[in-house]
Amino acid sequence: MKILVINAGSSSIKYQLFNMDDRSVLAAGVVERIGEEKGQIKHENKLAGTAPIVNRLAIPDHQAGLNMVAQSLLDAEKGVISTPNEITAVGHRVVHGGEKFSAPTVINEEVLSVIDSLSSLAPLHNPANLTGIQVAMKLFPHATQVAIFDTAFHQSIPDYAYRYAIPNELYEKHHIRVYGFHGTSHLFVSKVAAEYLDKPLEETNLITAHLGNGASITAVSGGKSVDTSMGFSPLPGLMMGTRSGDIDPAIVFHLAKDHGMEISEIDKLLNKKSGLLGISGDNDLRDIEERMAKNDEAARLAFEMYSYRIKKYIGAYTAALGRVDALVFTAGVGENSDRVRHQVCQGLASLGYTLDPVKNSQGKKGEVSEIHAEGSRIKILIISTNEELEIALQSEAVLLA
Ligand code: AMP
Repeated sequence: MKILVINAGSSSIKYQLFNMDDRSVLAAGVVERIGEEKGQIKHENKLAGTAPIVNRLAIPDHQAGLNMVAQSLLDAEKGVISTPNEITAVGHRVVHGGEKFSAPTVINEEVLSVIDSLSSLAPLHNPANLTGIQVAMKLFPHATQVAIFDTAFHQSIPDYAYRYAIPNELYEKHHIRVYGFHGTSHLFVSKVAAEYLDKPLEETNLITAHLGNGASITAVSGGKSVDTSMGFSPLPGLMMGTRSGDIDPAIVFHLAKDHGMEISEIDKLLNKKSGLLGISGDNDLRDIEERMAKNDEAARLAFEMYSYRIKKYIGAYTAALGRVDALVFTAGVGENSDRVRHQVCQGLASLGYTLDPVKNSQGKKGEVSEIHAEGSRIKILIISTNEELEIALQSEAVLLA
């Protein structure tokens, strides 16, 4: 069975085609700068193992972008399928599923209209996800279209953790509550961790730290999310590349009232100009680490703020869970920065987390790497996340159900 995974953003489309018989990737690529003057598609035939092909041209809209994806997959020389009908299912990443969706869902007209109605909760993401689905329905009419929601894994969070202490009617009328994001990644690494620990997922307690460009941390009890650091939107919680993470909401009123800033300006400030970028001028941790080696003071501060915030959440979630089997680091920073992992785990021995500095510096050596010291009460693991594979696996499970 072949499953195509599509992650349509506002100006890009990432895709991977899986052969589910052996879970191998047949082709992968990304369409970028949709709607701009200079777009490009990068396509890789993984089956042939040839170098990626980059084609630069203007890509006016998602329809044109997905047409190019289909053409690349079907290309007589460089393609991997001979007809669109070979694709059994298309799994779509959909950012916001609100309170309606807690599981992968086969898409029909009704599901499309609910995804559309949730656009006000995720204005940057859901409309693009929706367009991706609509175009894929035309291009692959024989395939079952499945929606996999970023918020779904967090629908198990109990009410005392997902509610904000604001008047009830804001929840009841306007659906304002914690939703949480990166659910597909948190679930994927939880399943890998449970398998590695040789425990049923239903008996496994974890803290999963997804530290990428966006970052969130989740408390997992018995394989279910019971708290997470992102909230109503992907803005709160950990400090991120360009997002502030947690701040005092009164700062927003102060900036608007006393400094005359427009709400849209404050929105941009907190989402696009804050986080590592706001403190150091760089949003990529690799650049910050390089600058730290040259004793750059702003880079040091950004790094310490970033790591400290993660440590605070680990403390909070250790308390929330009571028993933790493992702390999991994943995504760009989590998998690659031994420095962040070291800084985060320093001083956590009394809570049960003791890092082995040598294993930590040797880093990732496969799907799962153990980096805790012998005798550490709680295991510390690096696990490579694979959201695309998780989307393909969940799409397959829906088909087989
Ligand atoms: P992701 O969103 O998971 O692709 O993660 C992207 C982020 O991971 C980048 O913005 C970098 O900050 C970070 N990153 C990737 N590789 C490294 C590395 N070797 N060392 C430190 N940070 C890294």
